[in-house]
Amino acid sequence: MKVGVIGAGTMGSGIAQAFAMTDGYEVCLCDIKTEYAEGGLAKIKKNMDFLVGKEKITQEKANEILGKITTGLNDICGDCDLIVEVALEDLKIKQDIFASLQKIVKKDCMFASNTSSLSITKIGEGLDRPLIGMHFFNPADRMKLVEVIKGENTPQEMVDKIKSIATEIGKTPVEVKEAPGFVVNRILIPMINEAINVFDAGTASAEDIDIAMQLGASHPMGPLHLADLIGLDICLAIMEVLHTETGNEKYAPAPLLKKMVADKKLGKKTGVGFFDYSK
Ligand code: NAD
Repeated sequence: MKVGVIGAGTMGSGIAQAFAMTDGYEVCLCDIKTEYAEGGLAKIKKNMDFLVGKEKITQEKANEILGKITTGLNDICGDCDLIVEVALEDLKIKQDIFASLQKIVKKDCMFASNTSSLSITKIGEGLDRPLIGMHFFNPADRMKLVEVIKGENTPQEMVDKIKSIATEIGKTPVEVKEAPGFVVNRILIPMINEAINVFDAGTASAEDIDIAMQLGASHPMGPLHLADLIGLDICLAIMEVLHTETGNEKYAPAPLLKKMVADKKLGKKTGVGFFDYSK
């Protein structure tokens, strides 16, 4: 099966790796500039070097995996069997990507989006085929969960097919009805938002908030480190969707979250967030 991964950022490269590491899958890793797609491939290469160094895979296997990934612009996806869209969390961008891809891909090519919070039905509006949510978690090459989200027009057989593909690439799928933030982000991102409010109120330092939640709530990673890993822009986008779609003030984005995004302090990907990653 050939999979077109559209967007080679934080999530796209991990998703491309998960597919390429499975026998029988080839990947077209795409972005708006070829060098961005190549940047995604470089990240996968670094992961392969790490796995070879740890003797988890042989150098031969690493080369084979990397050889299954082609990089380029979205128009290299003409012969793909499945598209997984992993571009920015923006309805219009996602709609435009699928609208232009449907003109060049095969009739039976399946369309999936890795959206964290947007409506699958809205992203899929006006398309010539159904859309499904295939929501991976960060880091996508390692995290086991995939939320499989059924939009209003998604047939059950497509849900079953995507669940079996997720299982084949080593993930555990859960079937989720369309709802703001689905399951994980509906619970997780408001908790992160609250941790940001607690930090902003000066209740404790960022380090201590994280230690408190790790040791007091058995979380493997503290909420502020997790926010930096996810990307503060993504956290804000999800809070805004939860706030708008539910109309409930309890989902109002933390003022500090908005400020940090405006200041381009997006976490790990920009080198600074609640913690410093510049070294
Ligand atoms: P990112 O900013 O790291 O990467 C997005 C990539 O998409 C960029 O490289 C960008 O150049 C590219 N892009 C933008 N427009 C494009 C287009 N028209 N065609 C092709 N590529 C395009 O973002 P990310 O964190 O990887 O998130 C991507 C998607 O995955 C979002 O919808 C996000 O909500 C979702 N998601 C993110 C996480 C996370 O933890 N970061 C987890 C699950 C889902």
